[in-house]
Amino acid sequence: MDFNTLSVHGGAMKDENAGSVVNPIYLSTTFERGNQGEIGPKGYMYSRIGNPNRAALENLLAKMEAGAEAMAFSSGMAAAQAVFQGVLKPGDHVLISDDCYHGVVHLLSSQYPRWNVTFSGVDMTKVSNVASAIRSETALIMLETPSNPLLKIADIAAIARLAKERGITTVCDNTWATPFNTQPLELGVDLVFHSTTKYFGGHSDILGGCVISKLSDERCARIRDYQFCGGAVPSPFDCWLLIRSMATMPLRIRQQTESAAIIAARLSEHTNVEKVFYPGLKSHVNHDVAKVQMKNGFGAMLSIQVRGNQSDAMKFASGLKIFKHATSLGGVESLIEHRLTAEGIHAKSPENLMRISVGIEGTDDLLNDLLQALG
Ligand code: PLP
Repeated sequence: MDFNTLSVHGGAMKDENAGSVVNPIYLSTTFERGNQGEIGPKGYMYSRIGNPNRAALENLLAKMEAGAEAMAFSSGMAAAQAVFQGVLKPGDHVLISDDCYHGVVHLLSSQYPRWNVTFSGVDMTKVSNVASAIRSETALIMLETPSNPLLKIADIAAIARLAKERGITTVCDNTWATPFNTQPLELGVDLVFHSTTKYFGGHSDILGGCVISKLSDERCARIRDYQFCGGAVPSPFDCWLLIRSMATMPLRIRQQTESAAIIAARLSEHTNVEKVFYPGLKSHVNHDVAKVQMKNGFGAMLSIQVRGNQSDAMKFASGLKIFKHATSLGGVESLIEHRLTAEGIHAKSPENLMRISVGIEGTDDLLNDLLQALG
């Protein structure tokens, strides 16, 4: 099925009561059992274990990522945690990108030392770097491409191949690319995770996450089990809202990507911009890899280094009229963020770096806003 058609119809639930075209919401936390105490005829018992709205969302997510199963969570970080719980055991090592969402670094460094799990970061833009960073105890390689906030591109297929040869599980944080653009499971990765808070939600009003597994295997069953017993599941309303938002995801991302490409090209010529980080630029070191694995453009995220220091970058941000200076990304509204101050104790971004999430506003309005603030 075409991705557009899947987005509109793939999350539909058949409403046998009223025949409603829009999905009903099942708020009940409990479901009636059969005469012998068996789980009810529709397969539901208690909503932490399963709920019709969550099942519909998971079905749609699995189809979008071409996976066997999807598991929805109450945030992207809950999904990342489920991956670690389902894959790792004491003594294991995790290899992450040296440029990735700082929350993942925080989770691994604050919670996992007590479980004797170690991690290290490597520049994944070269497959040979990944090969040399693998240790005998490496059990998981976590890719994030494009990476946050430097838009580094990792060759998903090559890294997945390398890991497979060594029996190492791979997971890709596909939050920025989305399955509209990149399907890591099709490129050989074992698991995908998302912050559905971002492009799936698309309106900055839902917090959510998911894990999608290529196979319905033991590893997937452990993640599913962690979902049930850990209990960080999304509410029926959040599942319903996500399905509604996902119907327009391809339209939104197409518009956002088109604007981002124009903005990146224009800003890369601006005298008050030191550097633009965007995989769609021919000057990007892994532009050719991005061209192969990103099917529908190069995404709607970019970062820039404003010429000058932190105070010049802040002055630029405060001069913007349409862009809001706020964290997060993937919504209909354009956002800009000074990453260094957002990264907390794991801060390492350059002081003049601003991360931009391009929304669905008019391209010229966005470009003009950036240009007037740059001076
Ligand atoms: N992964 C990436 C790439 C992110 O940008 C974020 C949040 O910004 C997360 C994971 C964590 O997701 P959440 O905030 O939904 O827990």
